[in-house]
Amino acid sequence: MSEETNSNDPNMTVYSLARLKPPSLKGGPSDRLSHALHKLYEGLLSKKVEPICCAYQVVSEVCRALSASDIVGLVDRELGTTAKKMVVSAYSHRHCFMCKGGTNECDQCEGAGQEAPGRPCFRCEGLGLIICDFCHATDWADRQTIPVDLKSSVLDRHLVHVKTDLQLIQTTFAQESLDSLKGKPKSEKIKFITSLVRIQAQMNDLLKTDLGGDPQISEKFNKLIQSVSDWLNMFRVQPQKK
Ligand SMILES: [Zn+2]
Ligand SMILES: [Zn+2]
Repeated sequence: MSEETNSNDPNMTVYSLARLKPPSLKGGPSDRLSHALHKLYEGLLSKKVEPICCAYQVVSEVCRALSASDIVGLVDRELGTTAKKMVVSAYSHRHCFMCKGGTNECDQCEGAGQEAPGRPCFRCEGLGLIICDFCHATDWADRQTIPVDLKSSVLDRHLVHVKTDLQLIQTTFAQESLDSLKGKPKSEKIKFITSLVRIQAQMNDLLKTDLGGDPQISEKFNKLIQSVSDWLNMFRVQPQKK
């Protein structure tokens, strides 16, 4: 199961709470819109991903009669001009709850990648990890759960996250040798391999969206997807030569 990082989005710390304001809409407990906006306001103040997404969902349901852009307008008007940006950021950081960052430890080999010395595990093909069936290793919450009015903004955020993570991975490879990475304690190694599997899945996922139509992005990502495959192969347990 996912941990705390899901709700403590580091990127959300960049938003100043000073720009937020409590909703002016007044109403008793029966006033659903006022109540929903207050919940969203509380969520934004907490800067926690799940409370924000859940509260926005309720606001959208209460405002079903409004168009999608009218709902975004209402939220910004009622809660301040950073509200929409924070909601988008929250959705872009919403994670899969069924895995640890896109994968789970292989239960066949318990993460060792091998059944016996020099005999790669058949289930995980020597990697020690199994791809999550729910998010297909992206670690992103299902895109279907993103409100339609926020979809393209969330997609833009996902692209930014992928570029940042790619840079981190490339820096790691530039600073550390393969042997030193392979020699790391199991938990650290698994974390790094998971980041490779995840970034590959995320690039594949983004290529299936409208972004895939951008030749610059598709060319770059297809090349990088291949590189990540090569990197991953270097971490697989290889069969021992006789
Ligand atoms: Zn295995
Ligand atoms: Zn998952």
